[in-house]
Amino acid sequence: MDATEVALFIDPQQLVRGILVNERGQRYVAEDTYPDRAGQLTLYHQNNTAYLIIDETAQQEAMASLSPQLMMRPPTWVCETVAELEDEIGLPTGFLQSTIADYNHGAAQRHDPLLHKKKRWLRPIGSPVGAIDLRESTGGFTLGGLHTTLDAEVLHVSGVPIPGLFAAGRCTAGLAAWGYASGVSLGDGSFYGRRAGRAATSA
Ligand SMILES: Cc1cc2nc3c(=O)[nH]c(=O)nc-3n(C[C@H](O)[C@H](O)[C@H](O)COP(=O)(O)OP(=O)(O)OC[C@H]3O[C@@H](n4cnc5c(N)ncnc54)[C@H](O)[C@@H]3O)c2cc1C
Repeated sequence: MDATEVALFIDPQQLVRGILVNERGQRYVAEDTYPDRAGQLTLYHQNNTAYLIIDETAQQEAMASLSPQLMMRPPTWVCETVAELEDEIGLPTGFLQSTIADYNHGAAQRHDPLLHKKKRWLRPIGSPVGAIDLRESTGGFTLGGLHTTLDAEVLHVSGVPIPGLFAAGRCTAGLAAWGYASGVSLGDGSFYGRRAGRAATSA
């Protein structure tokens, strides 16, 4: 097992309406991507540290959305200005201010040249502005495992199929590994399970 699915414990309705920044106050993923991709990038590439910056209007919109609100979270800090917020969080001076100035400049024209978030979610971040502390807010399950051929024959580390040994499902590397998406586990488990059965009976 050399990979993991990583959930980021924040409601997607909040995530898409804010911006996700790292410990340097910089964006690193489009907030409307598949949330577990944001989780993988946060855990493995951002020291498991993220803050969701969201203004009051966006937070209220998210709360009023039709989402089941299972993972809806209140802001950890709320300030009148981005400079104050940056200070409260403890981010290096000027970085979050610069990130939000750039984001707002593009968002005013419904444009995200850095990460290409969809137009419908782009709106300049106003005041009051809050931040949700998402440090250590990831969790998941292991991925990766046995390598197989398209007929689900297990490959030896040398790359040669091991005669008579087939595998399918989550004990195999399958399709998921570093690009997990909901449905992939049941999808590749049933698809390769069927191929394994066929290959085994015709061997
Ligand atoms: C809460 C949750 C939500 C999920 N949601 C989704 C989703 O929305 N979409 C999706 O695609 N995937 C989802 N998954 C993942 C998906 O359900 C699993 O990856 C998938 O069921 C794995 O199937 P499998 O056949 O590989 O393994 P399993 O379903 O774990 O089957 C392994 C079987 O082997 C048996 N077994 C173990 N050891 C032995 C032994 N020594 N001898 C005999 N039998 C043994 C076990 O009892 C079990 O029946 C979710 C998983 C969880 C836990």
